Amino acid sequence: MSHKVTIVMYHYVRDLIHSKYPNIKGLDKNDFKGQIEFLAKNYNFITMEEMIDSYYNKTLLPKNAVLLTFDDAYIDHFNVVYPVLNNMGIQGSFFAPVRAVMENSMLDVNKIHFILAAQENINEIIKKIYILLDKYRVEYKLESNLYYYTKLAKENRYDIAEVIFIKRLLQVELEENLRKIITDELFKEIIGVDESIFSRELYMSLDQIKCMCKNGMHIGSHGYDHYWLGSLSRENQKIEIEKSLEFIKAVGGDLNYASICYPYGNYNADTLSLLQNYNFKVGMTTRVEVSDLSLDNPLELPRLDTNDLPKAANIEVNKWYT
Ligand SMILES: [Zn+2]
Repeated sequence: MSHKVTIVMYHYVRDLIHSKYPNIKGLDKNDFKGQIEFLAKNYNFITMEEMIDSYYNKTLLPKNAVLLTFDDAYIDHFNVVYPVLNNMGIQGSFFAPVRAVMENSMLDVNKIHFILAAQENINEIIKKIYILLDKYRVEYKLESNLYYYTKLAKENRYDIAEVIFIKRLLQVELEENLRKIITDELFKEIIGVDESIFSRELYMSLDQIKCMCKNGMHIGSHGYDHYWLGSLSRENQKIEIEKSLEFIKAVGGDLNYASICYPYGNYNADTLSLLQNYNFKVGMTTRVEVSDLSLDNPLELPRLDTNDLPKAANIEVNKWYT
C-alpha cells in the first residue's frame, strides 16, 4: 500500500504512419497499446475518484498505482484510446479545452503543431515568420527578429531550440492579437485547409465526450481558451475556470470530483486560490515526477510523459518504477 501515483500524460495518440501528418509529435496507436500492456503487467490502474478519495479520506492506494490523463480533447482519444481502455476496464481522465470542442475553432497551439509537422525544413518556417514580423513591426512596435530569436530559442527536453523559438513567440511573447494573425497566416499558407473543417477532424465532439463520461471516463477542466493561466488576471482566470466547470457539468461530470490540468502546465498563486474557492480537488502540472499524495499539494501534482515509460509489455521497468 502506498501514497504514490504515477500519473501519465498523453496528447496525440494516433495511427501516425498512416495519418496525413506522420511528423506530428504524437504516440503511435501500437505503442499506446504496448504501453497499456506494460502498465497492466507492472502497475495497478486507479481512477481519478480513487485518487481523490485517497487524498481526502486518507485511504491507501494499491502499490504502483497509475492514472492515465489525456490532454486537449483530440479525436484520437475517442477513436483510439477509449476503445482500448473500455475493453480493459481502465478509466482515463480527459481534459478538454472547451472552445475547441464547442466552437469548431482550432487552438493556436495545435495550428503550430501542424505547421511544424507539415513543413519539414524548420528554417523555412522561421523565414516566413521573419517576413511576417517585418510586415507588422511598425504597427505593433516589435523588437528585431534577432532580439526574439536570442531571447526565446532555448531547447528543452521535448524540442530543439528552433521549435521552442516558434512556440514561445507564437504562444506567449507577442501580444495575443498579433500571435493569432501570424499563426493564422502561417496555417493558411502551409496547411491551406479551412479551420472549421480541420477542427472537426481534430477534436472530439460534445456527444463523444458525453458518451465517454457516461461510460465511466473522467472529464476534467483544461480551461476554456487553453491560455497560460498564470499570464491572465485573476478575473480572467475566474472566467476560464467557471466556463470549464459549466462544461464538465454539461457533459455529465461530477463536480464533487472536479479536477484540472493546467494548459502548458502554467498557473500561479491566483489560480490555486481560485481553484480552492471552486472546490477543485486535484490539479495536474507538467512537472516530471511520480506523485506522492503524502507530500505533494493536491493542486500541483506532477506527471510523467508517455515517453518516460516503456511502450511494450516485455520491457523492463525503468527508474520511474516505485
Ligand atoms: Zn493542453
